[in-house]
Amino acid sequence: MTTIEDNLQQVRGRIATACARADRDVTAVTLLAVSKTFGPDAVVQALAAGQRAFGENYIQEGVEKILALRETRPDAAIEWHCIGPIQSNKTRLVAAHFDWVQSVDRLKIALRLSEQRPAGMAPLQVCLQVNVDGGPTKSGVAPAELPALAEAVASLPQLRLRGLMCIPEPAAGFEAQRAVFLRARALFDALNARGFGLDTLSMGMSDDLEAAVAAGSTLVRVGRAVFGSRPTV
Ligand SMILES: *Cc1c(COP(=O)(O)O)cnc(C)c1O
Repeated sequence: MTTIEDNLQQVRGRIATACARADRDVTAVTLLAVSKTFGPDAVVQALAAGQRAFGENYIQEGVEKILALRETRPDAAIEWHCIGPIQSNKTRLVAAHFDWVQSVDRLKIALRLSEQRPAGMAPLQVCLQVNVDGGPTKSGVAPAELPALAEAVASLPQLRLRGLMCIPEPAAGFEAQRAVFLRARALFDALNARGFGLDTLSMGMSDDLEAAVAAGSTLVRVGRAVFGSRPTV
C-alpha cells in the first residue's frame, strides 16, 4: 500500500468516526483531497485509492495539473475545486478548467466567472467564502454582506450557488474549533431559511476536521493528512 493510499484510509476513518459521534451518515461528508504543491503523480496515487475530488489553491499550478491528468487519465472523472484566492486576471482560467470554485468572496469575481464560463460546460459550482472569525487580513465576505452577495451570485446564469466555505484561524481544542464552525453553520442555515437551497458547507482541514463535522460540515478539505507535509515557502 502506498503512503497516500494508507493516509486516505486513515482520513476516511477519521471522517467516519466523527460522523458516528455526531450521529450523521458518513455519506453526508465528502472528502476533498487538497493536492496543492504536489505533482500529478500524487493525484494519480490518490485516484488509484478511489479518491475523485481534488482541491487546488494556486490557479496556474492547478490548471497545469488538470491538463496533465486530462492527458494521462482521460476517463478518470476527476472533480476539480478551486479553493484559493482569485485575482481578476485569473478568472478566465478558473472558468475554463475547474468544476467548482469555493473561494468567491466578491461580486466582481463572480460576474467574470459567469461571463467567462465556456458555453457547453456545466455551470460552475460555487461556494461563497465567508470570513467567520473576522480575521482582518483574511479573504472572505463579511457575514453582514453575505445575504446580498448570495442573492446576486444565485442569479448569475453560468454559476450554480451550492454553499459556503470558511477557513477560520487555527483554534486550540475541539470546543473552540467547533464554536467557530457553528457560526458558519448558522449563516448557512439562515440562507437556507430564506430559500437558497444550499447543500454544501465546506469546512474542516487536516487539524480540525472532527470539529467541523460535529458542526455540520458536508465537505472537508484535507491536504497534509493525505499527501504529507508541504514544503514551507
Ligand atoms: C491548504 C488548504 C487546505 C488543506 O489544509 P491542510 O491543513 O493541509 O489539510 C484546505 N483548505 C484551503 C483553503 C487550503 O488553502
